[in-house]
Amino acid sequence: MSCWDNVMLGISLVGQLSSDKGYVGKMVVGKLSVIGKKREIDWKSTLEFISNRINFTSRQCNIQDTKDRSYRIKNLLKDLPVYETLYKRETNMIKDDKCRRCKKNEIESWEHIWVCEDNEKSLEDIAQETIYIFEETLIKKERKIDVEILKKFNNDFVRIILEPSKVLLGKNRLWEVLRGVYNNNLNDLTRIKEEKSLIKELWNFLYNEFKNRIWFQRCKEIARLEKIDSIDKRDLKRKRQNEESTEEGGYKKDKNTKTNKNIEKIKKIKLKEKINLATRTKLIGAISEGFNIRNNWDTIQIGR
Ligand SMILES: [Zn+2]
Repeated sequence: MSCWDNVMLGISLVGQLSSDKGYVGKMVVGKLSVIGKKREIDWKSTLEFISNRINFTSRQCNIQDTKDRSYRIKNLLKDLPVYETLYKRETNMIKDDKCRRCKKNEIESWEHIWVCEDNEKSLEDIAQETIYIFEETLIKKERKIDVEILKKFNNDFVRIILEPSKVLLGKNRLWEVLRGVYNNNLNDLTRIKEEKSLIKELWNFLYNEFKNRIWFQRCKEIARLEKIDSIDKRDLKRKRQNEESTEEGGYKKDKNTKTNKNIEKIKKIKLKEKINLATRTKLIGAISEGFNIRNNWDTIQIGR
């Protein structure tokens, strides 16, 4: 079994068992001993982070913890509820998979979310700004020693994360941060435990900045746009109803024609449902066998 197979096995375990926190912990740690000899990626820190064990010293189990972990796992597997995914799953009668924010007729894929023109700032700008925001939070908390450590390493940190990724070809390492994958070059910056830990904290802070400033903003904007749409639809329906009720005479005939049309419609929906059921069963099979997840990484590696 190759290093990547081990890694993907570890990650798919996180995904499959995410509903049971205790079990995830055990399985992940169990797999870590065999994961990756190649030191480009620190898979131990990555999986600890994904299973939410960096921020929590004691084993807490609250709603926020569960939400965070769910986001991290879905995000790592590029399985966030973007239009491309929802459209494929035929969720909520979504009409197409295009990005509704920039309206550039581009598919709203996981990748598109992070580079959409509607985003407030580019990934690089957010990364640069994050150093200053993080410094401010340290100053506020009077963590003077940590401020000094940050000053010592901030340039190297930015240099490393802006370098081309060796795992996600064609992208820089910011995309590793986006997915929650910890690059081992960050560990090589120092041997001092406190310094290592602060670099990790900065990395974690950046991960959250991306989530808060891009993903959360995207969700807010989509909710706003969808609300406008549903109001428009409701108004349209009301308008139609008003028009129909004012049409005297031919109204009954209309109703009959409509009933016939409805029967046809129901027949079509039922047939579609049967087809969907078959496709979905096939899809679920593929995912649980791990093929989809592995393909995902392979496609990235050849530089898509
Ligand atoms: Zn867009």
